[in-house]
Amino acid sequence: MTAVDPRAPAVAGELDSYQLKSQNALLDGRVLDIRREADGLRVPVSFERADEVVKDLRYDRVIVAAGFRFDTSIFDDTCAPDLIVDGRFPALTPLSESVNVPGLYFAGTLMQGPDFKKSTTGFIHGFRYSVRALHRALRVRHYGETWPVTELGDTVERAVDAVITRVNRSSALWQQFAVLGDLLLVAPDGTLRHAEEVPVRHVAQAVRAGDFGEVAAHAVITLEYGADHDRVDPFDVTAGRKPQQDVAGLDSRYLHPVVRWYRAGEPAGEHHVTENLENEWDSEEFHRAPLRAFLADRLASAAPVTP
Ligand SMILES: Cc1cc2nc3c(=O)[nH]c(=O)nc-3n(C[C@H](O)[C@H](O)[C@H](O)COP(=O)(O)OP(=O)(O)OC[C@H]3O[C@@H](n4cnc5c(N)ncnc54)[C@H](O)[C@@H]3O)c2cc1C
Repeated sequence: MTAVDPRAPAVAGELDSYQLKSQNALLDGRVLDIRREADGLRVPVSFERADEVVKDLRYDRVIVAAGFRFDTSIFDDTCAPDLIVDGRFPALTPLSESVNVPGLYFAGTLMQGPDFKKSTTGFIHGFRYSVRALHRALRVRHYGETWPVTELGDTVERAVDAVITRVNRSSALWQQFAVLGDLLLVAPDGTLRHAEEVPVRHVAQAVRAGDFGEVAAHAVITLEYGADHDRVDPFDVTAGRKPQQDVAGLDSRYLHPVVRWYRAGEPAGEHHVTENLENEWDSEEFHRAPLRAFLADRLASAAPVTP
């Protein structure tokens, strides 16, 4: 028999076989002890809701999966990184550098602390893009290079094309929702450039530091879920939904593109491209036109910065 702690993320197969009485059980209680005895491992379990208050269960093997801690044993006192999330992950700057040990960077699943359980940095399919961003940032910081950008000229249509193309194609924006963003950079002379996959928390500081050259205004483009999307049961058929032909998708709950505009570093507008069931934001009427109107308005007021 397998016992699964119901507080742990349940595996669908275990739930199935529990319901079908196939030797798996989910026990709603606390493990009081694990003792080795002649016939195997004895595990007294205190049930929360059964009359039989404590039951001695026998198992051949026990796997304890009750969480983990970051192993700091390779660091001596001079460079032990501060930890967060119950000592599980290093506390990191937006560029995945330890907050208290300058020059100590983390790449991989250890990058996930700052957005723990909010994005996909804990997984290969997520952190691979953050690692690429870290690589680009290190080349800027240590080799005097600039973040790769694409010149877009000075027409609104090129900006619309750039945004629409990327939100429909980029797996980095898709997987690292709200964590990585593309940038639309407006130079003081009005010309536009586009940069891909910059850590969102790093943008303001990088623009201020001149990592992207002279910038009069900029937009951060992300894919994001709507506020409180996780409070709505996706299987609740009674939950109200806005029609996806609603161009004012401000409370879109599902993943959708968000464009945040900044002028001289200050927030100056926000546009949500309305969500779409197939994640295809290519309708002229519902996606491109509202985005074009927003960008045209903001670009018209992106006055050159005073030197
Ligand atoms: C069951 C399971 C299923 C998963 N499925 C997916 C999935 O479908 N998609 C996905 O994207 N992710 C998945 N993940 C997550 C993914 O596997 C991890 O996020 C990823 O492997 C982490 O990679 P990493 O290189 O950061 O760390 P690790 O893979 O843990 O690599 C760290 C390495 O460092 C070594 N090491 C540790 N200490 C020292 C030391 N002192 N000296 C030298 N070496 C050391 C370790 O031995 C290890 O080889 C899954 C994870 C699990 C457990």
